[in-house]
Amino acid sequence: MNSTTKMKAIVFGVFTAGIALGLYLSAVGAPPVSAATASKAEPAVSPVKARARDVYYPNSEDLNPDEMRVIACGTGMPTTRAAQAAACFLVELGNGDKFIFDIGSGAAERLSSLQIPYDYLDKIFIGHLHGDHFGSLGEIFIGGGLMGRHKPLQIWGPSGATPELGTQYAVDKMVQMYTWDLAGRAGLVDFRGFKTKVHEFDYKAENAVIYQENGVTIRSFPAIHSIDGPVSFALEWNGLKFVFGSDTYPNKWFNKYAKDADLAVHECFVAVPDIVGKLGFTPESALLVGTQVHTAPEAFGKVMSEVKPRMAVAYHFFKDWDTTAQVHDRIRKTYDGPLSLADDFMVWNVTKDDIRVRMAVVEESTWSPPAGSPAEPPKEADKTQFSKDNNVPPEAMQYSDFIANGRWSGVEEDLRGVYKEASDALGREFPYPEKSK
Ligand SMILES: [Zn+2]
Ligand SMILES: [Zn+2]
Repeated sequence: MNSTTKMKAIVFGVFTAGIALGLYLSAVGAPPVSAATASKAEPAVSPVKARARDVYYPNSEDLNPDEMRVIACGTGMPTTRAAQAAACFLVELGNGDKFIFDIGSGAAERLSSLQIPYDYLDKIFIGHLHGDHFGSLGEIFIGGGLMGRHKPLQIWGPSGATPELGTQYAVDKMVQMYTWDLAGRAGLVDFRGFKTKVHEFDYKAENAVIYQENGVTIRSFPAIHSIDGPVSFALEWNGLKFVFGSDTYPNKWFNKYAKDADLAVHECFVAVPDIVGKLGFTPESALLVGTQVHTAPEAFGKVMSEVKPRMAVAYHFFKDWDTTAQVHDRIRKTYDGPLSLADDFMVWNVTKDDIRVRMAVVEESTWSPPAGSPAEPPKEADKTQFSKDNNVPPEAMQYSDFIANGRWSGVEEDLRGVYKEASDALGREFPYPEKSK
């Protein structure tokens, strides 16, 4: 993604990126690093001095003990595109905890750009089971396990009207879908991350505590969307409150339990004329989807006028030059408070005195971040255990004679050389896997 293009698209409520920083500062009271640290004697502009920039570079700033940082890792729609992944918000707390709220299609790539050790990204809260809210679960399950998560992936999500419509069922089936994938990895890699732990809770429970640890309380309350099952979440820590609506039609529970949130994230769908004009829906369908299944911008504004958060965050629309104004103007018919029209990689630093909103500038060609815990060599026992747990015979977890005999021996000497190279370089013997299957 082109970060220049992304920067052009920033809209902080009524303040566009082009408006003078001074105006922005007086409005939100957030001194950027440059203003806070610059000596009065120094000129503001110099042809040779570096200036602090008001963007967030991942892993370049400590998180203060009393600070919450929220990063949008997906703000778009079910029909993903390069510019926007589907729903995902990462919450990082000054106590060291990190939580992922929804992990829609494409979100795992956004998370990888933040280069956070995967051991820290092991807690995912799913508001409902639409693909655009958990489509990237498999990617972080498999990819995260390969890139340094050495513990099970924990998933919190709602029950449904029947067991088949609940989170446990969805995750179990996803893991089953990966049977071949996992059967081929067991015994080859550190296998500790390739497990899931699901915490399913009652979707009808009102403001029920579903997580409480280390000073963090996360509650769930019902949402209204599509069919029974969806929920919204409120996270409270250190006197700060983050609310994530996932998807919902405006409802009484959000109005009540999101009240006075510091950051209230609520869906705000594409305006109806653009659902017809740009998504190609019929007017009948656009009206139903855009106002009855989802929250129309006008309705989003009305909800935020009830909730009165310190910062309202609208997401779930394609944020383009020709659609953002529609969304913004319609919200402003019903809400005049602080507003962020979210885009992927928008960042909120939340403290009791300040909410600083910026865009992150991220790396794209990333590799594994540093591991949060030491990796272990592969274990043969993982293969045996997997075979037992999944009813896959051990002989099916290795090549048949037919396939093994198809290997070209012409490369063997070269590959033995790679083993010798590793043995020489690391000063210990790595025996070549004779007759390996
Ligand atoms: Zn949905
Ligand atoms: Zn959605």
